[in-house]
Amino acid sequence: MNAIVTLEETLSNKIAAGEVVERPASVVKELVENALDAGSTRIDIELEEGGLSRIHVLDNGTGIAPDQVEQAFLRHATSKIQNEDDLHQIKTLGFRGEALPSISSVSKLTVETAQNNAAGIQLRYQGGRLIARTKAKARQGTSIVVEELFFNTPARLKYMKTVNTELGNATDIINRTALARPDVSFRFVHNGKQLLFTNGKGNRQDVLYAVYGKQVAENMLAVSRDSQDFEISGFIAKPDINRASRHYISVFINGRYIKHFPFMKAIEKAYQTLLPIHRYPIVVIAIEMNPMLVDVNVHPSKWDVRLSKEEELLHEISEMIRTRLQKETLIPETKEKD
Ligand code: ADP
Ligand code: MG
Repeated sequence: MNAIVTLEETLSNKIAAGEVVERPASVVKELVENALDAGSTRIDIELEEGGLSRIHVLDNGTGIAPDQVEQAFLRHATSKIQNEDDLHQIKTLGFRGEALPSISSVSKLTVETAQNNAAGIQLRYQGGRLIARTKAKARQGTSIVVEELFFNTPARLKYMKTVNTELGNATDIINRTALARPDVSFRFVHNGKQLLFTNGKGNRQDVLYAVYGKQVAENMLAVSRDSQDFEISGFIAKPDINRASRHYISVFINGRYIKHFPFMKAIEKAYQTLLPIHRYPIVVIAIEMNPMLVDVNVHPSKWDVRLSKEEELLHEISEMIRTRLQKETLIPETKEKD
């Protein structure tokens, strides 16, 4: 046996990247989340070849101070939490300080960032190593270009699917993020072709139109419900606009897209018998709640959560949907006994 050693940072980042960076869509997710955490109101996403050859995310957020950029690429370096108390009340999408070191360790990454329209800085990383540092033009915000993802991890590269599959995964994340944040303008371009534009005016129905088209947008019912712990709002489709998969159900908690099966079940149950078998509704629901009641530190991808008042929340969601469908006289007001 060899002596036990601590791995050098570039290597340990590359190992950690295996969890955070699964495919181009994961890079898109992390970079867009960073842009949102930086308070951006406009986010441009450009992909080439499904993101396999190039991913570019440009934002107009706070930018990173020139003397802090290198720090941002160190593992567990974050500006979003400072102590254990913060960990129990996460208000940002990120907090693990893993995305930038992970992504840069398995790609060729160029970051250009500037604050307050002052001169900025450009850093270039290759396989996690800093290879160039130059001044950049004055602007407001951050631009990150990720090229040749997994160029130095051939085993992972081999697992990438077709351009269309990778594009589909990235599109899914971008669409849902746009639905989560109608107050932010998103532009998404693939191989030079614009696939999504949202106006950022804060109207979720506008985003539904941009993502799902006119017919869907015009057949959604607005829903909302407030309780002591939750502020819920969103749109639910009339039952006849149904789909063959659960893919069209999006639930956001404090702006974060959550894949949590009990939500799906509660939503489906609320539609009762209005949907044919194996058909699912189109639903977009945003929940605002005290971050203390949500544990997002379950998995590095942060898709899943632990909720301390899950039963109550599920009840509020299904009641909200049921009463809205009743109002539309789609389901009977009271269940009469024979
Ligand atoms: P985390 O988001 O968990 O903090 P990241 O590795 O994604 O970790 O980012 C590290 C830090 O770099 C962030 O905490 C933030 O301070 C800074 N940062 C990253 N992306 C941006 C951006 N687009 N705009 C402003 N700051 C950013
Ligand atoms: Mg992040």
